[in-house]
Amino acid sequence: MPTVLILGGTGEARRLASVLPPTYRVISSLAGRVADPALPAGEVRIGGFGGPSGLAAYLQAEHVDVVVDATHPFAEQISANAAIACAGTNKRLIVLRRPGYSGTFRRTPSLQAAADLLPTLGQRAFITTGRQGIGNFRNVEMACLVRCVEPPEPLPPNFHVILARGPFTVDGELNLMRAHRIDVLVTKDSGGAMTEAKLEAAESLGIPVVVVDRPPVTPGVPIASTVDEVLRLLA
Ligand code: NAP
Repeated sequence: MPTVLILGGTGEARRLASVLPPTYRVISSLAGRVADPALPAGEVRIGGFGGPSGLAAYLQAEHVDVVVDATHPFAEQISANAAIACAGTNKRLIVLRRPGYSGTFRRTPSLQAAADLLPTLGQRAFITTGRQGIGNFRNVEMACLVRCVEPPEPLPPNFHVILARGPFTVDGELNLMRAHRIDVLVTKDSGGAMTEAKLEAAESLGIPVVVVDRPPVTPGVPIASTVDEVLRLLA
């Protein structure tokens, strides 16, 4: 029975684990970042592998045949580790990356560039780039509403933090942005239906949206944009 290791932490990874046929042994791997993770169906392991060499050793020990890197588009380190470990152990690697957001945005190459741009666009920012890297915004002197799943590092008094996990609705996002008189939104180009409501809300409020570009995928690795495409590649 071929063994598939899904590097997860996303909705797509959970969906893939639930639809892979029982002809595969499926192991899902989570980083263990959140206290109460949504668990995929079937076999699950939690925690880092110990870099590319630790992952390579795991692939050998568990006789993994295929790795599906279904991690978040901004989880750059684990994706790089997977590419190195698979190349070093001759294991097949498929990257599952949902499409990015489409629309008219101010695109920036980094969180820091987004932080630098914000004060030129408004006075009250809604920052939805996640807990990691929030430090890039700490010198922004405007009112900042930060939304993340887990509490971020302590932030200056002009920051207001709310903890919430998607999916979010357009009505909910509109109410939140109106209540905080938000006039600029910043997000990473995560893509996906769970979090795109804020973009629609921003558009209907006519406020500018800053989108941080994704890091590139390792060249030469097959990329699927949907779970069905992964199933076809595996077949
Ligand atoms: P990262 O910076 O790419 O990875 C840092 C380290 O965490 C990796 O070197 C690895 O440790 C461990 N790790 C990450 N994902 C893992 C997984 N699926 N299974 C086992 N170990 C994993 O990752 P991150 O940005 O902190 O994201 C962590 C997890 O949260 C990912 O699984 C990702 O899918 C999910 N997530 C991330 C974001 C985001 O914006 N970055 C958003 C939503 C969900 P070792 O080197 O010790 O193996």
